[in-house]
Amino acid sequence: MSGHLAPNASGSRASLAALVLGGRCPCGRAGASPCPACAATARTGAPGPTPSGLDLLIAGRAYDGITREVVARVKYRNERAAIDWLVAPVVAGILARGIPLDDLTVTWAPTTDTRRRARGFDHAALLAAAVARSLGRGSRSTLRRLDPHPQTGRARSARLAGPRFVALAAVRSPVLVVDDVLTTGGTLTAAARALRAAGARTVLAACVARTDGARARAAGHARNAPEPRSGPQGGDR
Ligand SMILES: [Zn+2]
Repeated sequence: MSGHLAPNASGSRASLAALVLGGRCPCGRAGASPCPACAATARTGAPGPTPSGLDLLIAGRAYDGITREVVARVKYRNERAAIDWLVAPVVAGILARGIPLDDLTVTWAPTTDTRRRARGFDHAALLAAAVARSLGRGSRSTLRRLDPHPQTGRARSARLAGPRFVALAAVRSPVLVVDDVLTTGGTLTAAARALRAAGARTVLAACVARTDGARARAAGHARNAPEPRSGPQGGDR
């Protein structure tokens, strides 16, 4: 057991939190979620087109395997111990690209009011806060969601149309929108549209995971499929 709890460069804080909170990896091991062995199986690099309306997209991991399980645990069970692990590749990508951080507004595409009330939190806000914290910034709420329908479970055509957002106030600095899973890109495109309408000239986005095209198409036809272990089919919210 001690092997799974040993501090390491990327997971010591998460491991400690998991110990305190009684965390457990999706594989069943007590301690960090994910445990080092499962974390090592995560696929990085998630190629694909940049959704329209964005100047740059930074995609973290591929949305499968352990990454998919951990995203679901954050989203549906509010397991916060894994958040730093989820955002780490995105943070590294932002730093590697030399994006100026001084004027950067870090924000998120909010989920529906119904979802947020039911869960008691907005997981995208948690991810944005974690990214911002890692960059030495704060995160800020900039968008309100007008569309009451969650993206999860919608047909691909409806997902592509995206939800509707409106900015809460003028947005003038470069903006980074953080989201969990990119499937069609409809959510980020809609968020970018609202931010530009409010004055943002440069809109960057970061998603912690990205589906491949085949999985995205499958998701559009899987509305009645059984839920995976940790929750419903993921994807743009
Ligand atoms: Zn594990």
